[in-house]
Amino acid sequence: MKSSKTFLQYSTQEFVEYLKSNRIHRFYFIYDSKSKRVISSHKNLNPIAEFINSDKRDFNLHEGLFFQVTKKYDTLQGAFVHRTNRGQAAGGVRFWNYLNVEDYIRDGLRLAKGMTHKNALAGLWWGGGKAVIAYNPEFDKNDPDIRRSIYKEFGEFITSLRGCYVTAEDAGTNVTDMANVFSGTRFTTCIPFEVGGSGNPSIPTARGVTAGMKAALEFLSGDTLKGKTIAVQGTGNVGIPLIKYLFEEKVKKVIAVDISAENVARAKKEFEGKRLIINTVKENDLSIFSTECDILSTCATGAILNPVTIPLIKAKIICGAANNQLEDPGRDGKDLFKRGIIYVPDFLTNRMGIVNCANEQYGYVNNDPFIERHFSTDWKHSIYQMTLMVLKKSKKKSQQTGKTAIKLAEKLSKENHPVFGHRGRLIIDSLVENKWDLTG
Ligand code: NAD
Repeated sequence: MKSSKTFLQYSTQEFVEYLKSNRIHRFYFIYDSKSKRVISSHKNLNPIAEFINSDKRDFNLHEGLFFQVTKKYDTLQGAFVHRTNRGQAAGGVRFWNYLNVEDYIRDGLRLAKGMTHKNALAGLWWGGGKAVIAYNPEFDKNDPDIRRSIYKEFGEFITSLRGCYVTAEDAGTNVTDMANVFSGTRFTTCIPFEVGGSGNPSIPTARGVTAGMKAALEFLSGDTLKGKTIAVQGTGNVGIPLIKYLFEEKVKKVIAVDISAENVARAKKEFEGKRLIINTVKENDLSIFSTECDILSTCATGAILNPVTIPLIKAKIICGAANNQLEDPGRDGKDLFKRGIIYVPDFLTNRMGIVNCANEQYGYVNNDPFIERHFSTDWKHSIYQMTLMVLKKSKKKSQQTGKTAIKLAEKLSKENHPVFGHRGRLIIDSLVENKWDLTG
């Protein structure tokens, strides 16, 4: 038998080869609340269960992790179910390249837990989960036939999980891929508009970020966006509608940067005659961080708040759409707090993608009240109210905002679904009982 170290250090493809040579097509790791241990479907995979069990950083009593190797193109696919008290575990599917098996498992654990927090804070009756597909470097990931096959098999894999996890689009996955997932399962959201999906959520996401900014200003000084200067990093799908909302709120000016000359030209054209100062910059350009402004809005990529950028920041508030903005949540959250900069946690403000997905299966109405309430100033789960609550609590407890938000999210995520209770856990138990690992 291989040692745990060996398994975790395997590349995902070496691991796939190991699984194939041992005739393992599907396998799982389940948290058993009686023994308080992670249990593996296969004895020879116990070292991985032990690793998960002992991990303090990313493992957070995840209810179940399910995996398969695709029959065609030998691709490792995993569904990470974190917590299902509030409902089915919901979160997107990422198609990504990983250094090794440890990296792959850690990413799934971390992302699934993040979805539990985002969904709970948004007041959705959904739990949290995520799926991760690892690239197989032997095949061209851009080949449409290969992608069709991989995503269809992924859809069938999700069907086999009987609805404890509901998937959606995420990094590395596109609209066509989602159509292929939909050909294999009903347990998906973010399907193409033409077949009943909700379409691109970027505009509501931008509106949600604007609501977060309003709450942060109210908390800081009882002020509004009117007359403020906002610095925006990234003028893509979210950045452009965000700037539109900011001008509607009568901000004084917007200063923006993007690495894409094409996107900069698009923004210039769209906001002709408005006070938008925008430049194309190099990827490592840090000028936006030291820009004099009231709010810095990070709408490009993650991990941009770190020991290099934080000391440069002139803004009193950071509020943007990018996922995982803090390179190291503990370290960087503390640094921002020490500097007295109000950081609005990304998972509080950029929820509208998953909110759109959550509402998909209930049909559509004009000015949907179940969407609109997220932008209101009075609903207790609205972005405005939640942001305000987190900022106030964080001040009272002298605690960084991310920590405060996670504490609140943890509590909310343990509330049971008002109709179905903790059904996800029952589904997982029935999968084990019916020997899911021998299916497919
Ligand atoms: P996008 O790819 O359309 O836009 C990102 C923009 O940032 C691009 O124009 C890109 O050129 C620019 N960029 C990348 N690196 C940069 C850098 N170093 N400096 C300046 N500009 C840079 O993505 P999007 O849909 O607008 O999303 C923006 C962020 O928000 C992403 O991190 C995304 O994961 C997150 N997010 C988006 C949504 C959504 O609904 N679209 C929902 C939740 C979270």
